[in-house]
Amino acid sequence: MHHFQYRENRLFAEDVDLTALAEQIGTPFYVYSEATLRRHMRVFRQAFEHTDALIAYAVKANPNLAVLKILAREGAGADVVSGGELQRALEASISPEKIVFSGVAKTFDEINAAIDVGIYQFNVESEPELEAIAKIARARQTTAPIALRINPDVSAGGHEKISTGRTEDKFGVPWSMARSLYGKARALEGVAIKGVDVHIGSQIAELAPFESAFKKIATLIADLRADGCPIERLDLGGGLGIPYGEGVTPPHPKDYAEMITRVTKPLDVQLIFEPGRMIAGNAGVLVTRVVYVKESIDRKFLIVDAGMNDLMRPALYDAWHDIWPVEKTERDITEYDVVGPVCESSDRFAKARSLPELLPSELVSIMSTGAYGAAQTSQYNSRPLIPEILVHHDQHAVIRQRPSFQKMIESEVIPTWLV
Ligand SMILES: *Cc1c(COP(=O)(O)O)cnc(C)c1O
Repeated sequence: MHHFQYRENRLFAEDVDLTALAEQIGTPFYVYSEATLRRHMRVFRQAFEHTDALIAYAVKANPNLAVLKILAREGAGADVVSGGELQRALEASISPEKIVFSGVAKTFDEINAAIDVGIYQFNVESEPELEAIAKIARARQTTAPIALRINPDVSAGGHEKISTGRTEDKFGVPWSMARSLYGKARALEGVAIKGVDVHIGSQIAELAPFESAFKKIATLIADLRADGCPIERLDLGGGLGIPYGEGVTPPHPKDYAEMITRVTKPLDVQLIFEPGRMIAGNAGVLVTRVVYVKESIDRKFLIVDAGMNDLMRPALYDAWHDIWPVEKTERDITEYDVVGPVCESSDRFAKARSLPELLPSELVSIMSTGAYGAAQTSQYNSRPLIPEILVHHDQHAVIRQRPSFQKMIESEVIPTWLV
């Protein structure tokens, strides 16, 4: 459910007319619905009410400060994967006791910064990282709270490039090494074992892979406790898919919660979740204008002013995004390849997509782009980062500005010998 709906054939974000907004802001731009963000966070929270679960929003999905602030107000913590994300979470007033730190390459500076503020937990992905954290904590005469991220070796559907829970993926501690590494952690001064962490991938559309991974982890917890490890938390990561309009219907958070309660109840642990896409994905759209319609031999290209640098998912993961005309018409349905201006053949948002006929200067909305959209943007082809707009009822605010060309190049320096 989201708040992007047609009113008399014009697409609105909550009570804001996107045609009028495009006039004011200039295209392309992202627009997020605050009500949708809050709703998704509440649905997730309600699925686990009556538990002490920590919902640590995966900042990487959409790290905009205003988005973090909204989610913080809804009770979210943060799952961060870099010092920059840690800084953002703190800036949005997310309490350090609600921050977990994931990622395979935490550096000395990042570990120090996280110990400084007193985060809730490091999700440790390897033996050398475990040793590094312990060493830094010892030098500071403190103890760092940790969980080991275990790779349960399950295949989680989804796209090849977003699967993380198989042996060949770089993430986590291999299943067969888990117990012995916990043994090592137990004997290590500078770290305190708090729990177990697992995250098997993203855009997972069925419960089965989650269930088989979580059941495996439950058996591991029993073994670890038998070994004398005090496991009091279980971080189940993120990964719950969303409908992108391609006919896939991922499980409702309620059913996900029901399965998890069944599998984890006997363990008596605090659950931690790291949802990203499920919170932000359907809370945002990318509004872009048709520049040209190009007739080729065997197809028509709808050339729009947004490119793969503004939204990478189709080029990176062959992702499907629904594309809606911002003004509904009764025109004939035509098949278009919807492409951007970037000088790459992979700069294509959709292939042979059926749309009502569109004309230059008309607007289309690329749907479900609130997660891993603006977050992955670059300035490739010297295209300034596009603005992000937040809508709240009939109000809107620019929450990231479009930099000028001057701003875009101001950090570059010509060396003295070239001046
Ligand atoms: C990316 C990521 C998430 C969020 O995944 P979603 O599919 O967006 O829910 C959570 N935890 C970790 C460790 C991640 O890398």
